Amino acid sequence: MRVAYFPFTQEAADQVRKAGFSLESLLDKSSFASVRNRAADRVLGSLRGEIPDNRPRREAENFVELFSYPLSRLIVSCLNDDYLIRRYVLAEAKLAYKRMQSEKEEIIFLANDLGLHPLHSAETFRVHFSEYIKAAHHMRSPKWKLINRDLKDGYLTITAEELMRLMQELVRDRIIKGLPVPLEDELCKSLNEYIIPLRLELDKLRSKQNLNLIRVEEEAYPPCIKALMAQIFAGQNPAHSARFALTSFLLKINMSPDQVVTLFNNSPDFDEEQTRYQVKHISGSSGTMYKPPSCGAMMTYGNCVGKDNLCKMISHPLGYYQRKIKLGN
Ligand code: SF4
Repeated sequence: MRVAYFPFTQEAADQVRKAGFSLESLLDKSSFASVRNRAADRVLGSLRGEIPDNRPRREAENFVELFSYPLSRLIVSCLNDDYLIRRYVLAEAKLAYKRMQSEKEEIIFLANDLGLHPLHSAETFRVHFSEYIKAAHHMRSPKWKLINRDLKDGYLTITAEELMRLMQELVRDRIIKGLPVPLEDELCKSLNEYIIPLRLELDKLRSKQNLNLIRVEEEAYPPCIKALMAQIFAGQNPAHSARFALTSFLLKINMSPDQVVTLFNNSPDFDEEQTRYQVKHISGSSGTMYKPPSCGAMMTYGNCVGKDNLCKMISHPLGYYQRKIKLGN
């Protein structure tokens, strides 16, 4: 396995350990500056949406790629921000997925390292259901549900593409484990040269989102919808009932399914395939356009927040919106 391509693996961790470099030398020595730069580059990439895929071609580059991963975890831990952690984990998992596409001969080794033991048969793979459930439990689209898979003798059949998608989920679970790493302030201070610009970038991203939020607040959305938008922009993952309420409301006031999908792109756990499926479904692709829940239903599910005076005069978030529009916001 090209260990440096997949630096989150056990094998990679073993190689790092065996190399025996002290943390102090990695943080201080000028010969490790390229490792520190690549570590910061990984974090910056995750803030900008994608870690640059610098494929190591020479031994020295393998070294940089391999050691930059644990160091990037330290940088993320020093920044200690939940939103950044989720973005970073997702970006690392996406980078791994991208590399799997061109390293298909490594797939079985990598799957084994992640705790999956697929059996290769012709064009497909067979995976034991217990391992499948472990990998697919976050996947929301119905095609991943066990009842929608053909299950025989405890195994189900998946394509190579599906296997890599499952592995991406396991990579995410592996990377998020242990983050943030508890660290001494002194250690973070020694990384200030990298941390300060990254914190500025993180602040810039947050203020951009706040601007979006202000724009939203100027409009006629009711308090519950504003609160849900705020959660999305803050990088949180609202509960299923809340996502449904937000999606159905926005579609009803004529936001296009594509616009709604783009909005959810603000969430660090964004999965375009799942989100598109759900939004399309709510918009009526299966023949029924779902109505947004009433205020009563919003209260039942804990999605009614911060009632204002207008809330007292309506029984549906759409009624709030329409009145506010009539009143000229
Ligand atoms: S009363 Fe209705 S419109 Fe107002 S916040 Fe609650 S659910 Fe939203």
